Amino acid sequence: MNRREFALTIAGSVASGALGTQSLGRITSWRAAPAVPRVDGARLNRHLAELSRFGANPQGGVTRLAYSDVDRAAREYVLGLMRDAKLTPTIDAAGNIIASRPGRDAARKPILFGSHIDSVPEGGNYDGNVGSLAAIEVAQSLGEQGVTTRHPLQVVVWQNEEGGLYGSRAVSGQLRPEELGNISRSGKQISDGIAFIGGNSSELTTVRRNKGDIAGYLELHIEQGGTLERDHADIGIVEGIVGIKQWEVTVTGFANHAGTTPMDQRHDALLAAARFVDAVNRTVTSIPGRQVGTVGRIQAFPGAPNVIPGQVICTLELRDLDESKIDSLFTSISAKATRIGGDTGTTFAFRMLHENVPAPSDPRVRALIADSARELGLTTKVMPSGAGHDAQAIATLGPMGMIFIPSVAGISHAPKEFSKPEDIVNGANVLMETLLKLDAVDWT
Ligand SMILES: [Zn+2]
Repeated sequence: MNRREFALTIAGSVASGALGTQSLGRITSWRAAPAVPRVDGARLNRHLAELSRFGANPQGGVTRLAYSDVDRAAREYVLGLMRDAKLTPTIDAAGNIIASRPGRDAARKPILFGSHIDSVPEGGNYDGNVGSLAAIEVAQSLGEQGVTTRHPLQVVVWQNEEGGLYGSRAVSGQLRPEELGNISRSGKQISDGIAFIGGNSSELTTVRRNKGDIAGYLELHIEQGGTLERDHADIGIVEGIVGIKQWEVTVTGFANHAGTTPMDQRHDALLAAARFVDAVNRTVTSIPGRQVGTVGRIQAFPGAPNVIPGQVICTLELRDLDESKIDSLFTSISAKATRIGGDTGTTFAFRMLHENVPAPSDPRVRALIADSARELGLTTKVMPSGAGHDAQAIATLGPMGMIFIPSVAGISHAPKEFSKPEDIVNGANVLMETLLKLDAVDWT
């Protein structure tokens, strides 16, 4: 055999799969008899299918608006699952479902984990549902496999996440009393909705927790974007939930005749605004990072073809994981606006519309998630969450970690939202393993 023939023989044996099959066989049998607790994946996916009947739409997906009849019925179903899992569920004054499982040391602060089961109009079957039912599954599996944690456990299903994190913000103390008068998408006032699902909004102070009151919070969620699928990663480790700041920007010039006013005597607010839009894009892209900046709405006044625009009202939105980066971008953008104003004979005024502070996850919890995924043979990707979650409110109370699983085609808040059953089971096992590791550490 010459050297070339030898190489071909080796290549052939690899291609025939003989070596690969042998090693795969060993891995499979090792996985079939795990030495560590694992969830019952078939049961979890069955429960997801059962929950999807509440508010099911003919085109697929669900409409399960917070405080609707189907929301209340779905919550009853979840309460039943919790009792089957030998948990003790209660409904707090904010309407959150909290199911407890005692730990070995009652003096320890609880570890919380869960998500939400309300949906947007014509939403999907996975947003919130995966994390809620996986949390129950984890608690049930621990019980069945004889595992008692040191910390007490609390499985939480937060109410009205989609309407604006009402349940979790009540617990973190960020819910302002006047917000109870808001009208939810189901048509009910928030306070009436809370009563409808078994809470009592006049006693919200009883649900309030303070920083340090919890040992940690974990949430499993679908990614709702296409990054994990594109990068062929099994598990997303969330760095944090991005902060958002929005401003209304008013550019004031002078409205005048478009035919008789010479070009060098104009105070054109729309020309200034056009330069501003470009300046926002240049500023945001001038430094490395994943920050984003958008002018999403613009209106010129008086808005006639033959009148030089005297006023423009537009918006500015900046997002990043780091609030100081948002602030420094804004400082730079407003300085450029002042210069544009000087060049065009206009003035710029900024009024803040909305502010959502970034919620970084705890780096120690991120490391536990990474270790857990590695032990399960899963690939990971560290990534920010561009969407809001209950975890951002609860992060103010203690170490927070979020686990993402892939969303097929990156579709969410739509009937075609889908995550594969095996990815759901992987996510639940990472949640369980991370929970056990978090239970074993003493950080305070
Ligand atoms: Zn969600």
